[in-house]
Amino acid sequence: MTATIEPNTTAASKTSRVVRDNLWMHFTQQDAQSGADTPVIVRGEGAYVYDDTGKRYLDGLAGLFAVQVGHGREELAEAAARQTRELAYFPLWGYAHPTAIDLAERLAHQAPGDINKVFFTVSGGESVETAWKLIRQYFKLIGQPTKHKVISRSMAYHGTSMGALSITGIPGAKADFEPLVPSTMRVPNTNFYRAPEHAPTDYEAYGLWAADRIEEMIMFEGPETVAAVFLEPVQNTGGCFVPPPGYFQRVREICDRHGVLLVSDEVICAFGRLGFDFGAKKFGYQPDIITTAKGLTSGYAPLGAVLVSDRIAEPFRNGATFMHGSTYGGHPVACAVAMANLDLMEREDLYGHVLRNEGAFRSTLEKLYGLPIVGEVRGDGFFWAVELVKDRATKEKFTDADATRILKGHVSKALFEAGLHCRADDRAEPVIQLAPPLICEQQQFDEMEQALRHALTGAWKLI
Ligand code: PLP
Repeated sequence: MTATIEPNTTAASKTSRVVRDNLWMHFTQQDAQSGADTPVIVRGEGAYVYDDTGKRYLDGLAGLFAVQVGHGREELAEAAARQTRELAYFPLWGYAHPTAIDLAERLAHQAPGDINKVFFTVSGGESVETAWKLIRQYFKLIGQPTKHKVISRSMAYHGTSMGALSITGIPGAKADFEPLVPSTMRVPNTNFYRAPEHAPTDYEAYGLWAADRIEEMIMFEGPETVAAVFLEPVQNTGGCFVPPPGYFQRVREICDRHGVLLVSDEVICAFGRLGFDFGAKKFGYQPDIITTAKGLTSGYAPLGAVLVSDRIAEPFRNGATFMHGSTYGGHPVACAVAMANLDLMEREDLYGHVLRNEGAFRSTLEKLYGLPIVGEVRGDGFFWAVELVKDRATKEKFTDADATRILKGHVSKALFEAGLHCRADDRAEPVIQLAPPLICEQQQFDEMEQALRHALTGAWKLI
């Protein structure tokens, strides 16, 4: 139906009407009033964005874990414009184009070990979906067709398409769409702060215990049926679960023992988020496949990539076709933007900047331990979470109703009013997630700490 365009409406009432009637926003609760207080972000510059009233916000989430180089970088806009003039579009179906060639060569060069083959996608979820399909075909090609199942971790997010959602470990994100693709299983994540009672109390031993749960699941399902394990270097959902030392090395051993592929889902963790081009390098493990997106273009254009080891690519070389692809995967403009983005990060040594400043970021956030609602501050690089608790001494959790009341009813609004864009997430225990552009410095760390202090002090009064 043609929407009725009402003349002479103010910008605010137009937003409210269109959001209510036309614009379906992602992961956003809807009700009859929805749209009334939707912020409209119109401009970005460096680590800050501005809404349509001119109010400035510190972008403490790099948009959505994407804008590594900050907003408004002229050379990325130039790269996109130049490529649009030269060759705006051509598919990667049987043809190649120069920016995809250059970017594939560059990613192959940077990726760890024998990861040399690059399949471009448009998003992180599509990278995960692609990786699972590629893995299924790989095992068919090498004569092990029963290997098809995937293991992932409790509460981990891997995307929303039916395959990627099946790998996702967040029950609340899946329930409305069941039944999903069968044959995915969950194992514990590395949440040491809330380790189960029967788990080891020593940090390293806990990491090995968590890794061993993967082997237990492989044995339970039958190694001849398990194809892959999908793990993030640092798990986002639940709040930045860092791997204890030795965790990934043990996982690698387990995978090798049972012929299971290790997929490092680096949709967030690659391209500097942890101070390295790939999170696997930071924690010293060798994946078989890496899935990426987001920071590859700093969000200036949609692009993802699946990076595949020679061993997995090899059986496809005998004339096989991977019957998979999309119109826009490896779009020339997106690849040009990615090249300019990687150039920029190299020239400004942004990975080095993250490594030099991650300690300062951590210690600034740790000042929040002065507030009784702060249970734990954890993370790595420029990727941090603050878990909120009812009682720090006992780690008492909020009830679901309290978490919603405090996070949605107060913290999110207070942070927004204080001019900080970040994420208050209650999919697991309530956490505030921070992942700012990699250009941030002490001034921005202080601004984040102060906005959080303000919001969390107010939240405590509601308990
Ligand atoms: N995998 C991980 C680890 C993610 O964090 C995300 C998104 O945040 C995805 C996959 C899905 O990426 P996209 O939203 O680009 O589809």
